[in-house]
Amino acid sequence: MKAVILAIGDELIMGQTVDTNSAWLSARLTEFGVMTVYHKTVPDDVAATVIALKEASAAAELVIATGGLGPTDDDLTRKAFAEILGVPLDLHPPSLERIRLYFKSLGREMPASNRVQAMIPRGAEVVANDWGTAPGIKAMIGKATVFALPGVPQEMKQMAERSIFPQFRGEPGNALAVECLQTFGAGESMVAEKLGALMRRDRNPTVGTTVSGGVVTVRIRSEAPTPVLAKKALATTVKEIEAKLGSLVFGRGDETLAGRVGQLALSKGQRLATAESCTGGLVARLVTDIAGSSNWYVGGWVTYSNEMKTRELGVDAGLIDRDGAVSEAVALAMAEGALQRSGADWAMSLTGVAGPDGGTPEKPVGLVWIGLCRREGEGRIAKAERFQFAGTRDTIRDRAAKTALNLLRLDLTSLPAVPSSSR
Ligand code: AMP
Ligand code: MG
Repeated sequence: MKAVILAIGDELIMGQTVDTNSAWLSARLTEFGVMTVYHKTVPDDVAATVIALKEASAAAELVIATGGLGPTDDDLTRKAFAEILGVPLDLHPPSLERIRLYFKSLGREMPASNRVQAMIPRGAEVVANDWGTAPGIKAMIGKATVFALPGVPQEMKQMAERSIFPQFRGEPGNALAVECLQTFGAGESMVAEKLGALMRRDRNPTVGTTVSGGVVTVRIRSEAPTPVLAKKALATTVKEIEAKLGSLVFGRGDETLAGRVGQLALSKGQRLATAESCTGGLVARLVTDIAGSSNWYVGGWVTYSNEMKTRELGVDAGLIDRDGAVSEAVALAMAEGALQRSGADWAMSLTGVAGPDGGTPEKPVGLVWIGLCRREGEGRIAKAERFQFAGTRDTIRDRAAKTALNLLRLDLTSLPAVPSSSR
C-alpha cells in the first residue's frame, strides 16, 4: 500500500514549526509495510489544500493530512474536505458534546469558537479525539481513504495509533523491513564507494546513505511478500554491508557513538575520564547524555587556560612554553594527568584550535590533538593523534569530540570482554 502525508499550516511553511508529524507518520507506516511516496506541506489556504488533497488521493490509496482542524478562522481543512466532496458541513452533535465535556473536565466553559470543530463534511466519518478538542475526519476521495488529524503531535499520534494503524495489522501483501547502520570515520562518498553495487537503485533490499553531524547512516529497506522474507533479505544485506564497512560501523538504529562507547566500557569493565580544552566539555556532554553513564564515566576537566592545565592536570608549564598548548606533548600530558588524578582506567584529552581566530601556518584552525591514556598493569600507555578538521567553530568542536569517542571505541573493541560476574 502507498501513502501520501500532507502537513497543513502557515507556521510550517514559514519555518516557525518543524514538521515532525510527517516524519513520525512515515516511520510508523513503514513498520506496517505502507510505503510513503511523498510528503507535501501547504499553507492554511483552502485552494492549496484542495489541490494537495486531490493530487495525493490520485497518487496513493492512503492519505493522512495533519493540521488545520483548530477552532480559528485559519483552520480550513474541514472546508477543503467539504469542497472536494461537494457536500456541506454538518454539525455532529456527539462531537460537540465531547468537546463540551473536554472543557468541563478542565473546569471551563466551552468557548463558542470551538463549536466549529464539531462541523463535519456530510457523509464523512468522525475520528474520535480523546486527547484534545478537534475530532478527525475520514472520507473517501476517489479511490483513496483520506484522514484529517489535528496538528498537535500528541493528539495526532494517539489518534493514528487507535484509528488508522490497526487496519494494517496482519494485512497480507507487501511487507517492509528496515534497518540503519551508523558509521563514523569516513565521508559519505567513501562509504558509498565501499558499498559499490549494493547501492544500485534497482536492487532489493535498497541501500542508501545520509550524513548528519559527521555520522554517515546507511539505510537498508527490504520489500518482500511476507514479513519473514523481508527480514531474511534484510539480514543478508546488513551482513554484506558490515563486511564491506568493517570497523566504520559503530551501531544500529538510533545508537550513538557515546552510547556504543558506554556499552563497550561496561562489558570490558573500563571507566573513563576526560580532559578537554578546545571542546569545552562537549565530550562530557555527549557521554552524560547517555542514561546510566555514571557506571562508566567518572568525570572530567575543562582546562581552557594553560594555568588550569598545569594546576588541575599537572601538565608541565615548561612543556606548554616549549611546544604550545596545542601539541602532542600537551595532549599526552593532559591524558596522563587525567588518568592519574581521576583513578579511571582510560582518560581522553583534547586540545586544538577551534577558530575562527587563533590559527597560524604551523597550527591552523581545525588542528586538534587527541590523547588517550590507559592503565596497563602498574604502568600507563599513552598515545596522541593529530587531526585536521574543517568547517565552522561548531563543526570543528563537534567532529573533534566524536572523533575522540570513536578512537576510544576502536581501542575498547580490541580489549577482551570481562565476565559479568567479575565486573
Ligand atoms: P492545528 O491542528 O493546525 O491547529 O495545529 C495545532 C498545533 O500543532 C500547531 O500550532 C503546531 O504547533 C502543531 N503542528 C501542526 N502541524 C504540525 C506538524 N506537521 N508537525 C509538528 N507540529 C505541528
Ligand atoms: Mg494550524
